[in-house]
Amino acid sequence: MSRFMSERLSSLKPYTPGEQPLDKKYIKLNTNESPYPPSPAVVNAINKSAIEDLKLYSDPDLRRLRGAIAKYYGVPEGCVFCGNGSDEVLSFAFQAWGSDNGVAYPDISYGFYSVFADLYSFNSKVIPLDKDFHINLNDYYGFNGLIVFANPNAPTGLFVPVGEIKRLAKNNPDSVILVDEAYVDFGAESALSLIFEHDNVVVVRTFSKSRQMAGARLGYAFACEALINDLNTIKFSFNPYNVNRLTAIAGAESVMDGAYFEECKAKIIKTRENLKQCLRSLGFSMTDSVANFVFVKHPDICGKQYYEALKERGILVRHFSAERIDQYVRITVGTDDEINALVAATVDILQEAK
Ligand SMILES: *Cc1c(COP(=O)(O)O)cnc(C)c1O
Repeated sequence: MSRFMSERLSSLKPYTPGEQPLDKKYIKLNTNESPYPPSPAVVNAINKSAIEDLKLYSDPDLRRLRGAIAKYYGVPEGCVFCGNGSDEVLSFAFQAWGSDNGVAYPDISYGFYSVFADLYSFNSKVIPLDKDFHINLNDYYGFNGLIVFANPNAPTGLFVPVGEIKRLAKNNPDSVILVDEAYVDFGAESALSLIFEHDNVVVVRTFSKSRQMAGARLGYAFACEALINDLNTIKFSFNPYNVNRLTAIAGAESVMDGAYFEECKAKIIKTRENLKQCLRSLGFSMTDSVANFVFVKHPDICGKQYYEALKERGILVRHFSAERIDQYVRITVGTDDEINALVAATVDILQEAK
């Protein structure tokens, strides 16, 4: 740290992204990207736009992109906001709705929530998951600040039913309730319908996990128009061109190619269930993840050891050293070939661990 760093931020601990090593080619199952390429329509549109339009600024209102998302999900365009990855949407949300009352989120969840709370100097109310790693929304009743959780949660893959979110929205009318649905497409029920009944519910989504576009950086949010306007106030005070032209066109094309989206999703869900079965038969226990990853542990090998042994064999998964979850690893669902390689390596590792 230089001597010029703002004192307010001198103890800020930045988010640690999953590793993206360049030393060799790994089977990469550590950051929940899609193993499949984007739709051909996306690639064509990017090519065409690069040649014809890259010299121009992007549309600050992102009308085409927001229009495509609005149409696909059946919501008014004024209820859609887009950002440079859902991380940016989350950052704007914290700036807009974080308050002196602080921000509440689960102890085990997406690591950025605490980082944003610290960055913007809000108090954090960290609420533990129950012993089976479920979020109990009753624990959030009566809290009057911003409430944020991932649904399905990461890294557990477990979800809270929408009825419980609805009850929380009703019970805490003075809190904004932000539901981070990064993984919702892989099998959980969305809270999207709640935005029509509750002026305090925001649903955040991303193109990174289920739409093959992690590198493009595109996230979006659904909420009532007043909340969307709040996000726009932050965006237009920070970077009106937050979504670049190539990403905006790619996002619109991705949404319009519904068949490809469904096809990739179905493949991942099928591979996930196969993977669960294989790992169970090898003695692993796991959460019943409905996301594009599994969260597993084995009685014969600790999480860190398993992670390291896989890395030695050219396979990257994610290990978290936080207290309650350090026995686990999180494995992104890849292609069938990638998962077969993972299972083969695991058989090998378990043999050695005996
Ligand atoms: C991956 C992830 C994000 C970030 O997604 P980007 O759109 O790539 O910024 C946000 N929330 C959760 C829970 C995630 O897992």
